[in-house]
Amino acid sequence: MGKRHILIVEDEAKIVKTLVEYLEKAGYSVSSLESGNQVISFVKKSPPDLILLDIMLPGMDGMEVCREIRKFSAIPILMITARTDEIDRIMGLELGADDYICKPFSPREVMARVKAVFRRLYPKQAGKRIVVGDLELNEDTRQVTVKGQELILTPIEFGLLRVLFSHPNRVFSRNQLTNLVQGYSFEGYDRTIDTHIKNIRKKIGVFLPDKEIISSIYGIGYKINDGY
Ligand code: CA
Repeated sequence: MGKRHILIVEDEAKIVKTLVEYLEKAGYSVSSLESGNQVISFVKKSPPDLILLDIMLPGMDGMEVCREIRKFSAIPILMITARTDEIDRIMGLELGADDYICKPFSPREVMARVKAVFRRLYPKQAGKRIVVGDLELNEDTRQVTVKGQELILTPIEFGLLRVLFSHPNRVFSRNQLTNLVQGYSFEGYDRTIDTHIKNIRKKIGVFLPDKEIISSIYGIGYKINDGY
């Protein structure tokens, strides 16, 4: 499966920048447009897998854009609105949006909504799953959950976890980790691995603050603990 493509339609550059950053980190490819008038032709030419659509736009507003898209496409649309009184209309059958997000929002919230839409659309097959304590890694969907909560991981972080999950309790050297996480180039790899591991620990730590899931073995490398 290739990268899923997300189109952001929003005229506030700051919001676009933040969303692009987060979505790309999570492994999506992202395009953005700032005017409602550009959307229809863009979507017809290169249909994205999901659209994040702001309502207040120069040119055609988000509501109109959504209605127009629905005339020819069932692409999932997440509406972004600053007005709670618009929610009923957004979710109304006439418009055909899939979900909405209220401004101001956190990027984390947007990520969760995007993933929820994809989950609804493409239900998980029984992919290869590896369970270590409260963590579960699914190789097919490339998702890692902690107590059922999904971690938002970069592709490299997922790759590192996949290697560690493949042999719980076994220590992998930084060198092995570098070689086994394929498809990414590590620059000055020793330190880079440490940084990625630190970030993974931080993300897991949100849900399991007092547990040492990944241990560092001094002078050797890292392992994931089964039965921590
Ligand atoms: Ca706007």
